[in-house]
Formats: sequence, C-alpha cells, structure tokens
Amino acid sequence: MQSAINFGAGPSMIPQEVLKEAQTHLLDFHGHGLSIMEASHRSSMYEEVHNRAIEDIKTLLHVPEDYDVLFLQGGASLQFAMVPLNLSQGGVIEFVDTGTWSSKAIKEAKIMGLNTRVVASSKESGYTHIPENIAFSDEADYAYITSNNTIYGTQYKTFPDATAPLVVDASSDIFSYPIDWNKTSLLFAGAQKNAGPSGVTIVIIKRNLLERVNETVPTMLRYQTHAEANSLYNTPPTFGIYLLGLTMKWIKAQGGVEAVRQYNEEKAALLYNAIDASEGFYVGHALPGSRSLMNVSFNIKDKDKTLEAALLDLAQKEQMVGLKGHRSVGGLRASIYNAMRKEGVQALVDLMHSFAKTHR
Ligand code: PMP
Repeated sequence: MQSAINFGAGPSMIPQEVLKEAQTHLLDFHGHGLSIMEASHRSSMYEEVHNRAIEDIKTLLHVPEDYDVLFLQGGASLQFAMVPLNLSQGGVIEFVDTGTWSSKAIKEAKIMGLNTRVVASSKESGYTHIPENIAFSDEADYAYITSNNTIYGTQYKTFPDATAPLVVDASSDIFSYPIDWNKTSLLFAGAQKNAGPSGVTIVIIKRNLLERVNETVPTMLRYQTHAEANSLYNTPPTFGIYLLGLTMKWIKAQGGVEAVRQYNEEKAALLYNAIDASEGFYVGHALPGSRSLMNVSFNIKDKDKTLEAALLDLAQKEQMVGLKGHRSVGGLRASIYNAMRKEGVQALVDLMHSFAKTHR
C-alpha cells in the first residue's frame, strides 16, 4: 500500500488500480510465462497490448477515422522540434505564448530559422491568464497552443478557432475532457501526467498532415514513418505503453473523460474555494477565468516566504509530497491530475485551513 499523497507535477500519481494490476502481472503476463517487459515488440503478446492501447485512446477521445494515434519517445519536448520539422512549409507559424512550455516550442522553431509570430501572450502579466480574443491569421502554416500550463496553472476552457491546422500541446490535461477535433489537427502529450509513466509521448495527428514532411527530415523524426509502421518502426517503450494501456482501461472504468472531467471539477473547486475563502492568506496565481483543473499554483501572503517553507514542511510530515511550486513561479503547486482522489485534495484543504488559522 502507498502512504503518500502525490501532488507532483509529473511524473505524477498513477491510479492504484493500475499499479496493482501491473504488479499482479509483472512476472507472468496472463500465463505467458514471462513479463510483458521481456516480450519482443514483434510478438503477438505485445502487439495485442499495443493495439488495444491505441484503440482505447481512440474510443476515449472519440478520435475521428482520419487521424492516427502514435506512440513516440523523446518526451513532449521533442515535439517542440518535430512539429515544425513535419508541418512547416516555409511560411509563418503562429503561437499563443502562455508560459514556459509555449516559449520552449517557439524557441525550437526559431532555432530552425523558421518564421514565428506570437499572436497573443500573457507574459506581461506573469502568465496569470489565457489571452482573450486570440486571432490567428489565415496564412499560417499552423497555429499552436498549450492547452494547460503546468507551471502557471492556467487552462483554456475551449480551444481557439484557427483556419490553419491547430496544434495543441495537451501534455498536462490530455484525457481530462473531450477534444474538439473540428478545431484540432495535431495533439500531443507526454504520458507522465494523465496517461501513465514517463517515456511515452502520444501524438494524434490528422492523416492529411503526414504528407507535408520534407525529404530532408531524418526517418525517425517523421510522423509518416511512425504512422506507416503503427508506431513499431523501431523498439517502442513497451512497458510504458503497457502501463498507459492499463491507465486507459482505468479511465474507461471511471466512465470516460466526460465523467473524469466532472470529478476533476469537483476536486479543483475544493482547492480554489479554500484559496478564495482564506481572506487573502492564500493567493492563487491564475486569474479565476483561466484556472486550471489540473495544476493549482498558489502563494502565501508572506514577504519573507518562511510560511511557504513551513507549510511545505508540515505537508511533508503528513506525507503530502510534490507540493513545491516550480522554480520559475515559487510558492506551492498542487497537481491534481485524473488519478488524484477527492480525499487527497480534502486532506490538503484541511491542512491549509488549520495552517492559515494558526499563522494568520
Ligand atoms: N509541455 C507541457 C505542458 C509540460 O507540462 C511539459 C512537462 N512538464 C512538457 C511540455 C515537456 O515534457 P517532457 O518532459 O515530456 O519533454
């Protein structure tokens, strides 16, 4: 049994049911006499796991027929380079800058000498919100957003409209709401928050974009290579994909992403209400209209920051871990991804209440 409540931003909490099922089958996978970790990626034993995971992603996210689901490596960070390598046609790429991760995506396109344009940014305000009235032009090769900003704790309520194909980095909120595929042409996510362990990156791409790639792009960096080979061009991270598959099964058992979203809303409300009811003792980083259901970043009104350290210490003693805010914003951050239970959030809220009472 685990005793810690893990509020870490990623790698992060994995559902207990998933870990237990993996544990049961770790040595002997369903009577095959070996672990799934030891199976060839060309074996029928593994291929079944691989294809089931892809099918379950398609079912959970209602992925249309004309999209491919890929399992890649290199983390979401490699996508910052792979997306422009595959989709740029030498024209302009339009970005919304909502924090560290979008800035890193912009930086990669710039390294390649591509023409980038930031159409909206919340940088001036310290990335406290998702910009309003985002206007992508018609001429862009593609438009790019980060759906949930893991560090600042901001999240789009709906994706913006774009005439050009919209690319979405959904690393920290995939599988927490249904995707509007009418708006989205490519969606990618590192698995280590809502989809399992680190080491697998999910890419869901509209098939007509596969043809865009230029011949000078190396084989492993082309989406086409992986789409044609059903993500078995080379050895995939088999154990990670197995765990990802178990996580998909778990989400289905929760009632799918719609049910998960409802539960997440209730969870997040507990925390935001605690912040709002604290009479200024706790200060949320995100403006109310942009608050993330996944990452709740907040500070304590306290000039020398000793209270934040004291609360973190206390939380640690109560086995609540991973609450330290990202070094770029400081304060605290509670990551409450799909796997986090309401009881875990309630325990943190109770601690915050009693701490505020004694330190006000
Ligand atoms: N995008 C977002 C929104 C993220 O939160 C992260 C990681 N926290 C990344 C990209 C980078 O992911 P990776 O570490 O898998 O490269």
